Amino acid sequence: MKIYEKAPAKINLMLDVLHKRPDGFHEVEMVMTMVDLADRLEMSALPRNTIIITSQAGYIPLDEKNLAFQAARLIKDRYDVQSGVHIHLDKKIPVAAGLAGGSSDAAATLRGLNRLWNLNIPVHELQELGAELGSDVPFCVTGGTALATGRGEKLTKVDNPLSCWVILAKPPINVSTAEVYGKFRVADVKEHPSAGKMVEALQAGDFGAVCGRLGNVLEEVTLKLHPQVSQLKEAMLKLGADGALMSGSGPTVFGLVYKESKVARIYNGLRGFCREVYAVRLLT
Ligand code: ATP
Repeated sequence: MKIYEKAPAKINLMLDVLHKRPDGFHEVEMVMTMVDLADRLEMSALPRNTIIITSQAGYIPLDEKNLAFQAARLIKDRYDVQSGVHIHLDKKIPVAAGLAGGSSDAAATLRGLNRLWNLNIPVHELQELGAELGSDVPFCVTGGTALATGRGEKLTKVDNPLSCWVILAKPPINVSTAEVYGKFRVADVKEHPSAGKMVEALQAGDFGAVCGRLGNVLEEVTLKLHPQVSQLKEAMLKLGADGALMSGSGPTVFGLVYKESKVARIYNGLRGFCREVYAVRLLT
């Protein structure tokens, strides 16, 4: 028996950090959505009580450090499943890019194993399990567009009638989310982006307003550490993107583009700066 799941990448249309909590997590407000750049997971039932992860990508851990492994172990332990699974990860989402690739794989594993093992776990319970694995996992369980608060696990669905192109560009540098949050100071934030205004713009289907409301308070930290990210964002806008922003803690920069006729020019222009460029659609 085999199950297939797609694990799409997420982008943050806005990301604000309100304060650091006594438990060490940051209280955030984020509007997140998904794009059609996705990993593909193949899950095969194993008679032996074991979890095996394989991947065509040579650069991710395949042991208990893999988030798909952790998701499988969590669901097995919690629901006392005595059979095993082989999960093959066909990675397409760049790793450590600010696109929640690992979180989306974990969420897809939870959804897939719920089906493979006929567990009938309701979605909200899958999201609670996901929150134990990482702050972005609950959102990735359902996808769509959502306002995320708390440490990212409290979700409110947002109607998003928008359809546009998204150009993703990942410079060849590694950004540590922990380092970016470690260097971030709320007092240094010049302007907090508004979650409410972004939600309004989306619900109204107002593409121009969405582009005008893009904002990420982590951008300044990452841009200071890695000037290439700043250059990439400028290039994206110069080449004609209607709006551009760094996703998550970076280093991927995305550009929103309404007109298909502009896409090739922006894509080709960015390829001069970095190898990893993708032209995809917003998932609606
Ligand atoms: P986020 O936006 O949630 O911070 P990210 O896109 O920056 O995530 P990931 O691609 O999820 O980062 O990878 C972060 C780290 O997690 C990497 O160092 C990688 O080795 C590890 N990792 C564990 N499991 C996976 C997985 N299934 N796919 C990719 N990376 C994984």
